[in-house]
Amino acid sequence: MFDVVIVGLGIAGYTAAIYCARYKLKVLLVGAEEGGMGNTAAEVGNWPGEIEIRGPDLMEKFKKHAVSFTDQVTFKIARVKDIQKMGSEFELVLEGDEKVMGKTVIFATGSNKRHLGIKGEEEFSGKGVTYCATCDAFFYRNKTVAVIGGGDSAVEGAAIAAQVAAKVYLVHRKNSFRAEPYWVEKVKEKKNVEFVLERNIVEVIGDQPSPAAAGLRPASKKVTGIKLDQPYNGSDTIAVDGVFIEIGSNPAVELPKKLGCALDTKGFLQVDEAQRTNIAGIFGAGDLTSASNHFAQFTTAAGEATVAANSAFNYLQAGK
Ligand SMILES: Cc1cc2nc3c(=O)[nH]c(=O)nc-3n(C[C@H](O)[C@H](O)[C@H](O)COP(=O)(O)OP(=O)(O)OC[C@H]3O[C@@H](n4cnc5c(N)ncnc54)[C@H](O)[C@@H]3O)c2cc1C
Repeated sequence: MFDVVIVGLGIAGYTAAIYCARYKLKVLLVGAEEGGMGNTAAEVGNWPGEIEIRGPDLMEKFKKHAVSFTDQVTFKIARVKDIQKMGSEFELVLEGDEKVMGKTVIFATGSNKRHLGIKGEEEFSGKGVTYCATCDAFFYRNKTVAVIGGGDSAVEGAAIAAQVAAKVYLVHRKNSFRAEPYWVEKVKEKKNVEFVLERNIVEVIGDQPSPAAAGLRPASKKVTGIKLDQPYNGSDTIAVDGVFIEIGSNPAVELPKKLGCALDTKGFLQVDEAQRTNIAGIFGAGDLTSASNHFAQFTTAAGEATVAANSAFNYLQAGK
């Protein structure tokens, strides 16, 4: 039986683990992927104390700190498949069907990338269509790519892709950007980025290779272009080798929803000022919650996790 099960290996999960460990709680820190969204940030310039640091390097520092509490923290990489309330405690089912019990749970599951839902998107997913420009741009050296979106991840992604790709089309449905002005300015300086504004992508086009000749491996499917809802430079298609869809993300609230936790009107996990949900013993921190004005940042995730850990500690103390 753990005092607290923390679900998520992003900045919120690691921070909550550090605080819970220092409260001398018995912690299970479990998550599907190490580092979470932080691993996809190419360059972080707003984590206090670090003028500039790569996202994966920052996340590695967090992990190192969290797992340094060897007496307190059990670290596990596994997806949590299910959760149910059993009396005043919680049973979580991990992939592989291992069951663990926690007196409290802190959800720090972040968010899932949004899909466009257009023709060709699923078919070419992983074959030229990806959801993380900063992670995958490296594979498109001297190629042509399209980045779709107008927020931070799209604009940052376009700037990063421009460092390796020969040409980057930044396709956005509006003519102004939601992204931080820092990144918009940076991408405007890039000579190989072309802005395709006030256009929606309606289809990902790809080739369907003919069957392989005897004895040869069949060629794999690949993206060859995108189709727009209205012409750009006289054509409604643009030839590209890769498409990075960066249109934001939805809070990963499946598990707390299953338990009966309330969501806010935007679909985020509803928490109060102490990061408590409506279910006693269940707390939330980071990108999945309604807190911090929905401002999804490293600093807000860490702050929320600090408060969630303190609340879990207070809850456990009150029950003694
Ligand atoms: C490209 C990009 C660049 C960014 N740059 C910056 C920046 O410069 N500065 C800044 O402040 N913010 C930046 N952000 C935002 C920042 O990355 C996020 O706000 C932050 O990482 C959120 O942390 P989190 O811990 O809430 O969630 P996440 O980092 O998303 O972590 C969620 C964790 O939960 C796990 N998980 C989810 N579901 C389950 C499940 N069912 N079972 C087990 N585990 C599960 C995941 O595997 C993951 O480990 C950037 C985001 C992107 C996409």
